[in-house]
Amino acid sequence: MSLEVSQKITIEKSKISKIGQVDFNNLPFGQVYSDHMLVCDYENGKWQAPKIIPYQNISLDPSAKIFHYGQSIFEGMKAYKDESDAIWLFRPRDNQKRLNISAKRLAMPELPESYFMDGLEALLLLEKDWIPTTKDSSLYIRPFIFATGNGFHASPADKYKFIIACSPSGPYFGGKLKVLIEQQYSRSANGGVGFAKAGGNYAGQFYPTNLAIEKGYQQVIWTDDTSHEFIEEAGAMNIFIRIDDTLITAPTSDRILDGITRKSIIEIARDQGIAVEIRNISVHEIVEASENGSLKEMFGAGTAAVISPIAGFGYKEKDFMLPELESPIALKLKKQITDIQYNRADDKFGWRHAVK
Ligand SMILES: *Cc1c(COP(=O)(O)O)cnc(C)c1O
Repeated sequence: MSLEVSQKITIEKSKISKIGQVDFNNLPFGQVYSDHMLVCDYENGKWQAPKIIPYQNISLDPSAKIFHYGQSIFEGMKAYKDESDAIWLFRPRDNQKRLNISAKRLAMPELPESYFMDGLEALLLLEKDWIPTTKDSSLYIRPFIFATGNGFHASPADKYKFIIACSPSGPYFGGKLKVLIEQQYSRSANGGVGFAKAGGNYAGQFYPTNLAIEKGYQQVIWTDDTSHEFIEEAGAMNIFIRIDDTLITAPTSDRILDGITRKSIIEIARDQGIAVEIRNISVHEIVEASENGSLKEMFGAGTAAVISPIAGFGYKEKDFMLPELESPIALKLKKQITDIQYNRADDKFGWRHAVK
């Protein structure tokens, strides 16, 4: 069956739903996929009509450029259901804009805003029963674009595919992270693609992260590629460091991803009178703060986990543990941002976006 919902998006519904097989009380993160996906092809120099089709495999020529030259970018966002079953997104246009920032850097075609927003909303309305309502659960949304055009010649592809897939998900991560401050490998470099959400950025992180895991850590703290002296990101999250009562986070650059969670936390904190400094912070400074007792908290910030508290960090064969606080700022900020996301609090910043 194929019915026209708008001028642009056609919907082909799946014949049977998988939803009955899903245990919504025990959802993993990102491992269960909903019944449908949005697909839109770029060919002949333009984006074609988007379609919503049953979630299914993709068939590609072995010479498709995604496999050889890694033209692949993505976004990560969530849809939330409130108590009256209304559907909300959080700052979705920021994801849309960032997808195009990534596209430009990887020499991929930019996607018009309406293709992203209308496609996403049509998909969410169709998949609304897949948005979980159990605590801290949400529908994780993965929009991505990759090169389908083929040829072994090292040049940008002439064909691409944009897909939005959805995954009903429980909380991302439990427990505090022990992290290793990286002194050899780099996630990104000046003039590179660190600010883009490019798949290859993740591929390059896995090996150094595995080495850190072998040493008993869960995550790597990335430092600048030149001196390894300045703190940049926590795995695939932005990082905040609390010294006394001030939150410090590195400025975004071509090495650091401009996270939506990061910038929301900066605004929420400042709105509450918490001092936030956006500046370079050295490993030396946090080691010294740890030794003199002024280092209070460190946490990662990103859509999937929202906020991941850090228990301690390893640096040059030595471990530095953070204090156990009674009421960490990290937890307060997490509550405030998730209360906005789930429509449990006023949206004074205008970040919520209703899907209806
Ligand atoms: C996605 C991502 C983040 C977090 O961005 P959000 O918009 O908050 O989800 C931070 N750092 C890296 C490297 C990322 O890929």
